[in-house]
Amino acid sequence: MAHVVVLGAGIGGLTAAYDMKEQLRPGDTLTVISENPYFQFTPSNPWVAVNWRSREDITFDMAPYVEKKDINLVSTAAKRVHPDKNQVELADGKIVSYDFLIIATGPKLAFEEVEGAGPEHHTNSICTVNHAVKAAQAWDGFVNDPGHIVVGALQGASCYGPAYEFAMIMDTDLRRRKIRSKVPMTFVTAEPYIGHLGLGGVGDSKGMMESTLRDKHIKWICNAKVTKVEAGKMFVTEHDDEGKPKKEHELAFKYSMMLPAFKGVDAVFGIEGLTNPRGFILIDEFQRNPKFKNIYSIGVCVAIPPVEATPVPTGTPKTGYMIESMVTATVHNIRRVIDGQDPDQKASWNAVCLADFGDNGAAFVAIPQIPPRNVSWFKKGKWVHLAKIGFEKYFIRKMKKGNTEPVYEKYVLKLMGVVRLK
Ligand SMILES: Cc1cc2nc3c(=O)[nH]c(=O)nc-3n(C[C@H](O)[C@H](O)[C@H](O)COP(=O)(O)OP(=O)(O)OC[C@H]3O[C@@H](n4cnc5c(N)ncnc54)[C@H](O)[C@@H]3O)c2cc1C
Repeated sequence: MAHVVVLGAGIGGLTAAYDMKEQLRPGDTLTVISENPYFQFTPSNPWVAVNWRSREDITFDMAPYVEKKDINLVSTAAKRVHPDKNQVELADGKIVSYDFLIIATGPKLAFEEVEGAGPEHHTNSICTVNHAVKAAQAWDGFVNDPGHIVVGALQGASCYGPAYEFAMIMDTDLRRRKIRSKVPMTFVTAEPYIGHLGLGGVGDSKGMMESTLRDKHIKWICNAKVTKVEAGKMFVTEHDDEGKPKKEHELAFKYSMMLPAFKGVDAVFGIEGLTNPRGFILIDEFQRNPKFKNIYSIGVCVAIPPVEATPVPTGTPKTGYMIESMVTATVHNIRRVIDGQDPDQKASWNAVCLADFGDNGAAFVAIPQIPPRNVSWFKKGKWVHLAKIGFEKYFIRKMKKGNTEPVYEKYVLKLMGVVRLK
């Protein structure tokens, strides 16, 4: 009988647990290890950070739901994976042995790479629900004493959509409060141009995102490296297309949210053959680690190369649709190996994203993610905002029920009317 362990229970890990359970034989067992007892719907964090959602709205305790599906939940962080022994060592010293391991830990947030950055220092974050709750407290103070906002993504970041989203959401919230006129805003990003998104652009994302920022009176600095942040001041070096320093900026701010670069979590960092130098899990086309063949990986923690070299380093985003297809491939491959066959399922590596702008939004579809593409589609409209609200409810309900329908395939793509373009 096989024991499958899923490490991490975010969008990737919890989806994988439910899907894996359906693939297992009677008598096989499944354990999920999660440092938190709760599931959080990360895409809603920007709304939490302006108090449009509460922590309770976007999180739920997993135990009753996963136990109903006969999945064991261990709510303790993994301290270290020991692939040579097929074991996960937990923070409390206990050991969980596995026959197959699915690593789905998401990223470690590398704020320490920029002095003064991060919620422990001088910039806010929306990467976790805890960070978003802290950012919301800072937001409450800010709206009573408004000033300059600096928002964006630090060098090496791979997740740009939420930075744009949060800029637009703050803009909407400030307009509703009728204090937008008191808030100059600057978008600071490592991207070579607005709308690059770590994807080399999608459709006319450059033109459309630039015009959106112009419409909303948000200035921008691209090819930006943040060298240091002090209380209320950000030091930014702007680079030219060759990657040479072009201009130094000192940006005074009253409120800042900067997304960090990502790296692999400590539990796997530096394991020879398992991770790359940034700590991301090395996988083959079947989501399987080439050295430790009973380890698979999905989600933000997998190693994928940047779409293209940029003057200031940028990474490639890993978004929900892509993660869902990684999960589907992984669970089917594990079942094939259990049955004595070779893995043959591959993820589709497409990017689909709904970016909320507060009262409207932008949707993009990149199939495949790496250009040249069959579909490169980018559209703005109020319908995106409404679709995102619907998707949040739909996804959280699905995670509670533990149903295994592919939500991105069914909901987002159909909604966008692009299924026929695949
Ligand atoms: C603010 C934000 C908004 C986003 N919005 C969208 C969006 O609208 N659409 C979209 O497609 N994508 C979006 N993304 C990108 C992506 O879909 C999400 O980051 C998604 O949450 C990634 O899922 P994951 O399972 O790979 O990682 P995570 O959701 O980060 O889950 C990893 C889990 O593993 C746990 N973990 C980590 N280390 C350990 C350990 N040592 N032991 C035990 N557990 C551990 C973590 O606590 C976490 O629960 C967004 C990302 C961010 C940051």
